[in-house]
Amino acid sequence: MKIAVPKEIKNHEYRVALTPSGARELVGRGHEVIVQAAAGEGAGFSDADFEAAGARLEADVARLWDEAELILKVKEPQAEEVARLTRGQTLFTYLHLAAEEALTKGLLESGATCIAYETITASEGGLPLLAPMSTVAGRMAVQAGAHSLEKAQGGSGVLLPGVPGVAPARVTVIGGGVVGENAARMALGLGAEVTVLDKSIPRLETLDDRYQGRMKTVFSTADALEEAVRESDLVIGAVLVPGAAAPKLITREMLSDMKPGSVLVDVAIDQGGCFETSRPTTHAEPTYVVDGVVHYCVANMPGAVARTSTQALTNATLPFVLSLADKGWQKALADDDHFAAGLNVHDGKLTYRAVAEAFGLEY
Ligand code: NAD
Repeated sequence: MKIAVPKEIKNHEYRVALTPSGARELVGRGHEVIVQAAAGEGAGFSDADFEAAGARLEADVARLWDEAELILKVKEPQAEEVARLTRGQTLFTYLHLAAEEALTKGLLESGATCIAYETITASEGGLPLLAPMSTVAGRMAVQAGAHSLEKAQGGSGVLLPGVPGVAPARVTVIGGGVVGENAARMALGLGAEVTVLDKSIPRLETLDDRYQGRMKTVFSTADALEEAVRESDLVIGAVLVPGAAAPKLITREMLSDMKPGSVLVDVAIDQGGCFETSRPTTHAEPTYVVDGVVHYCVANMPGAVARTSTQALTNATLPFVLSLADKGWQKALADDDHFAAGLNVHDGKLTYRAVAEAFGLEY
C-alpha cells in the first residue's frame, strides 16, 4: 500500500504521524512509505533518518497527497488538506469532529474514509490513542506548576519538595484519571505532599492501592474542593466528563481563599477548563495572574515536548497503521470492533453517532 505522511501544518504543531522506526516496519512488510520533506524535523527526525528507514521523500505536497492510498496525520486536517482528500483514500488522524462542523462537512464531501484516533476503544476500557497524550500532559503539568511557583513567574516562591527542615509543598490534583494519576505520580516523585480528588470511588481505590497510601485520596465534594484550594500551593485540574464541557469546580470567589502566588494548572482547558477563571493560553505566553493566583492553561501541552509526544503517540498508533496497511481498512476494521469504533466518515456518510447528533446530520 502507498502510505503518505504529510508535514503537519497547524500552527505550532511539531509532531509527525510516523517515526523512522514505524516507516521501517511498514517498508519491511512491502509497503511504500512517502514522507513529506522536513515532516519529522520538529520532532527531531531528519529526512535522512526516514530515507535510511526505506521511506521515499517527497517535496511536492500535492503529489504526496495524490499518490497516497493511506494518509497518516496527527492533527485534524486543515482546510487546504481537506481539499486534497479524495474518494478512495483513507485518512487516519485525530479528528475531534463533534466540535468542528465545517471540517465534518468537508470530510463528507471528500468521499474519503476517515478514521479518528480519539474514538478507538480498548478491550480493557479507555481510549488507547488519547491516553498517551494525557500521560504526557499529566506529567508536564507538574513541571509547569513547579516553574510557575517561582517568584519570577508570579508564584509564591515555594519549592515543591521543600528541603530538610522546610516542609514540602501541597499539591492537589482534581480528577484522578490518566492525566491526574500521572500528575500525582510526578508530584510524589518530587517529594510534594499530594492529594487526589475524584468522584469515582473505584478510581480512588485503584490509586490508593497502586500508591500504597503515599498520596491522599479524597472523594470530590464542594467541601473537599474548598479545603484543597485553601491549603494547596499547586492545584492541577484534570477532570473529564465524557462528551461534556468540564464542570467549573473552582470559582473566582474561591481564589481569595488561596495563598498569594499559588498556582492553578488547568489541563482540562481543552474541554473548556475546570476553573471559572481559566482561559486558553499558548506555549509562547503560558500563564497569567488573577487575584494573585497564577494560571497555566495551555490547550496543547504535549506540543511542547514534540519528540516524546511523537514517540508516545506513534507507539500507540503503529499497530493500527500496520493493520490498515496489511489488510486494507475494510478488513482491518471488520476484524476488530475497537478499531471499528474509530470510523467517523466513509463515502460521504457519517458513521459515528455522537458526531451526527452534534450537528443534526444523517447517521
Ligand atoms: P480521564 O477520563 O482518564 O480522567 C478524568 C477523571 O475525572 C475521571 O477519573 C473522573 O472520575 C474524574 N472526574 C469527573 N468529574 C469530576 C469531578 N467533578 N471531581 C473530581 N473528579 C472528576 O481523562 P484524562 O485523559 O485524564 O483527561 C483529563 C482532561 O485533560 C480532559 O479534559 C482532557 O481533554 C484533558 N487533556 C488536556 C491536554 C492539554 O494539552 N491541555 C492534553 C491531554 C488531555
